[in-house]
Amino acid sequence: MKKTFYITTPIYYVNDIPHIGHAYTTIACDVMSRYKRMKGFDAHFLTGTDEHGQKIQAAAEAKGMTPQELVDKIHVNFKELWKVLNISNDDFIRTTEPRHVRVVQAMFKKLMDQEDIYKGSYEGWYCVPCETYVPESGMGGNRTCPDCGRPLTMMREESYFFKASKYVPQLIEHYEKNLQGVMPRARYNEIMSFLRGDVRDQSVSRTTLKWGIPIPGDEKHVVYVWFDALINYATAVGYLDAPEMFQKYWPVVRHMVGKDIIRFHCVIWPLMLLALGNNVPVSVVAHGWWTVDGEKMSKSKGNVVDPFKMAELYGADAFRYFLLREVPFGNDGDFSESALVGRINSDLANDLGNLLNRTLQMIVNYAGGVAPKGGGDDPLDAEVRALGEATLGLVDKTMETFSYDEALKHIWAFIGRGNKYIDETMPWKLRKEDQGERLNAVLHTLYEVLRLSALLTAPYIPESAEKLWKQLGLPGSPLTEKLDDFRWGEGAGTKVAKAEVLFPRIDLEQWRRGQVQPPSAPEATVEPEHEPQIDIEGFRSVEMRVARILKAEEIPKSKKLYKLEVDLGYEKRTICAGIKPFFKPEELTGKRVVVVANLKSAKLAGVESNGMVLAASTRDASGAAESLALIAPTSDVPLGSRVS
Ligand SMILES: [Zn+2]
Repeated sequence: MKKTFYITTPIYYVNDIPHIGHAYTTIACDVMSRYKRMKGFDAHFLTGTDEHGQKIQAAAEAKGMTPQELVDKIHVNFKELWKVLNISNDDFIRTTEPRHVRVVQAMFKKLMDQEDIYKGSYEGWYCVPCETYVPESGMGGNRTCPDCGRPLTMMREESYFFKASKYVPQLIEHYEKNLQGVMPRARYNEIMSFLRGDVRDQSVSRTTLKWGIPIPGDEKHVVYVWFDALINYATAVGYLDAPEMFQKYWPVVRHMVGKDIIRFHCVIWPLMLLALGNNVPVSVVAHGWWTVDGEKMSKSKGNVVDPFKMAELYGADAFRYFLLREVPFGNDGDFSESALVGRINSDLANDLGNLLNRTLQMIVNYAGGVAPKGGGDDPLDAEVRALGEATLGLVDKTMETFSYDEALKHIWAFIGRGNKYIDETMPWKLRKEDQGERLNAVLHTLYEVLRLSALLTAPYIPESAEKLWKQLGLPGSPLTEKLDDFRWGEGAGTKVAKAEVLFPRIDLEQWRRGQVQPPSAPEATVEPEHEPQIDIEGFRSVEMRVARILKAEEIPKSKKLYKLEVDLGYEKRTICAGIKPFFKPEELTGKRVVVVANLKSAKLAGVESNGMVLAASTRDASGAAESLALIAPTSDVPLGSRVS
């Protein structure tokens, strides 16, 4: 029988505008359930919306709608975001659905019948917008709500109470035996010390609000919103309607939550479950909060990160990758678009994208477009293979503890090894030297590195991993493959497909001006003829400095050369540069460039040149430059500044 796995996001408060926090939790659950499916699990992934409560009632009144009409309309915001972010949830629950209302009422009645819910009266300081009583110890200054800062009101009402205190010793015992019951460890300790303190019976009904689930037999009460909301996790796997499904998934449930709601999930909910005679969750995994560019996110600051916009600008995969790679899961993190762009260019475009492009191009050029069979016993090949196989295990170990960033570090270390392997083996050199057998073995290894990379990255960047898979010429999707079935070498003989850019590099100049390239923009790539490696001393011996072009003059005898007068700050000199086909003289005047300042002087077309202006270029088949860009500093550094 298949192993089962059940993971949930919190149900999101339906009146919220979806933001980075919602996206983060949901992406983390999505990656985990995709990963588990690839590990052969029967995984069930639930998300949804919390639709009852005072605030919804008020918002609906303000809009002249019924609460039901309002939630029917706005819960779609979340569904749409999950589509955009490629979320693979199996179910989406809404607390206003009849299937849920029935379960809440049944659980309430069961607890009432066994006298774990009793009627009493509740008196306390109450925050109306937050619908919470606030204990004296938790109040802000001047009796204000610690969450929203508004003044509290003294309130007394008839209420039903859940005998939470009765089950506390049992829950403490459970957590003492299950250290992973709350993750990470800091949160576990927080919960244990709370449980060892004074846990009071919990008020679970309200007479002050109407928009909620009525209590059977006493309909002037509605169920307290948190009591209602927590039960969604059991509703969705058939607590009442599908006992077999409940048997299958409930014992393996894991809840992912923000650290602000752990008391509900790690104390109240497990106590309810113990009273009901059900298993408590295997783990509650709490993640941290996001700041934006170092500041707390708030509507008034206008710095709320819109996940729709991020996905539109940078692609869902890049956003998904960034959120899970940037911060150790459980810690707080800082979001900045420039850090996101940095990761796109370095990790995705440079590391993964280049490895794919370089490899496919070489398989096409050197092996007729078919991934060759391996061969020989080069220790380098064995090392890369061993690292790949070890990475599968390392990723699995880190995923067990929800350490997404660690898993990604392992995967990218392997991808980086692939790029280094190209530099070490220099396939173009093997080709020149006619070492066909070795060349095939190298291309074979590279193909397998990519095939495994597609599988390992698939839970994180599903869309791109599928594109990668397709370009490798493999059938189906990496997402439906089983990681445990991976055998190194089985990709041999596959005909590769057309190479396409996986992650377009973002032009930083354009990006700073606010013009981001659309994610589909093509990028020309060039397989370079590499030079032998040099050491740092060899590099340092090249003296490169920032200079300004003062004047560009034609040299009558030359079609390609300009005579440039450049200012290095400490001196002016003449340099001849073969850039005439690409610029008019007036386009060059005043431009900052980088020059090699210690190049031996040489006579070019009769003019003495003292240095070289740096440029990047592509060349046609004859070796002539096709396109050319001057290399320039991105901000105003003083003339003469050393480039290193
Ligand atoms: Zn409040």
